[in-house]
Amino acid sequence: MCQKTQDIAVQRDFTSETDGNRTSLNPSSVVVINLDQGDPTVFETYWRNVGEKSTITFKGDQSLSYFANAKNLCWFLEPKLEEEIRRLHNVVGNAKVEDHFIIVGNGSSQLIQAALYAVSPSDHPEPISVVAATPYYSAYQEVADLLRSGLYRWGGDAYSFDKDEPYIEMVTSPNNPNGVMREPVVNRPQGKIIHDLAYYWPHYTPITSQVDHDIMLFTYSKCTGHAGSRIGWALVRDKDVAKKMVKFMEVSTIGVSKESQLRAAKILGVISDSCQNDKSPDLDNFFEYSQHLMAERWEKLRQVVKVNELFSLTKYPSEYCLFTKDFTQAHPAFAWMSCKSNMEDCEKMLRGHKILARSGSRFGSDPKYVRISMVGRDQEFNLFLERLSSIQEITSGN
Ligand code: PMP
Repeated sequence: MCQKTQDIAVQRDFTSETDGNRTSLNPSSVVVINLDQGDPTVFETYWRNVGEKSTITFKGDQSLSYFANAKNLCWFLEPKLEEEIRRLHNVVGNAKVEDHFIIVGNGSSQLIQAALYAVSPSDHPEPISVVAATPYYSAYQEVADLLRSGLYRWGGDAYSFDKDEPYIEMVTSPNNPNGVMREPVVNRPQGKIIHDLAYYWPHYTPITSQVDHDIMLFTYSKCTGHAGSRIGWALVRDKDVAKKMVKFMEVSTIGVSKESQLRAAKILGVISDSCQNDKSPDLDNFFEYSQHLMAERWEKLRQVVKVNELFSLTKYPSEYCLFTKDFTQAHPAFAWMSCKSNMEDCEKMLRGHKILARSGSRFGSDPKYVRISMVGRDQEFNLFLERLSSIQEITSGN
């Protein structure tokens, strides 16, 4: 059984007493707690409370055509989604949208591939290197190497890249897995940079500037929690790069589901409304709500870690957030946790306690570290805290 299928099987085991989409967990110690994936169900209650305001319906004669707007460079992008993406970035102030084309993708996962294709030189004799600073998002390596492309291949840790040739650097800010803000590290003239800003939203990190890069990738999955719709978007300054990304989308999937796009437009619209009191006074500000939720989870986790003294967590500085107009710390979607003692394989040790987390080695880092999802459902998270606090001493898991 492949790793993914195994994970899903474990997840099913874990959610065996389900009631529709709600999970009722058996808090017994035999339950496996799967915090390996960052499945963002944490905001489910918010959306349940929003109710009808976030509902969208379709009739049988709607959205039949492949085309959404034949006049647009990205001809499969629904105009309403484009409008709501631009509006949300302006409301939050996290990224400049003027002078950028918007390209929609099947999750930002597809746009990572589209961007790699678009910025790779077509006349280079060898595949060029795709690099990212460790610890890096584990999918980059898989994406770069999966098809053994003639255009690019995985080049490893950006900190050790020293070749005098073209390369692509993935810059993830805030970073997955460790939540820290990042900048390019190679800084050579022949480099192309793809900024992956999946987590640059106020619930995860203070918005310290309105970023304005050539290629910026965002995902609906981590912004609102609607990972199942598979919507991501790219903000791209250069027209030729944007055209090549659209070409990639045409060849791979001939665009993106209109149902998903229109649902995303609706949900993003609700979020913007919720931030603009005059538009929807009865809606809780989504980012205030979600930031509070993330802060609460982080506080609880830090408390458990402090008491049992076996682990340590990344610390984040308090910074002024332009959106909340207050000093806040980051509350990332993942905890990057390490074992304090001479324990060398933290993932293995946690697995022994039936907690599944992703090993640091998957991120090009030390197996002393693990990445833990902070964005699952409440019951799962609380059970995790309970289980973690019951770990008394680290028995060798090597
Ligand atoms: N970039 C980063 C840094 C991510 O963590 C993720 C999701 N794990 C993605 C991109 C892809 O997100 P999606 O395909 O769901 O839009």
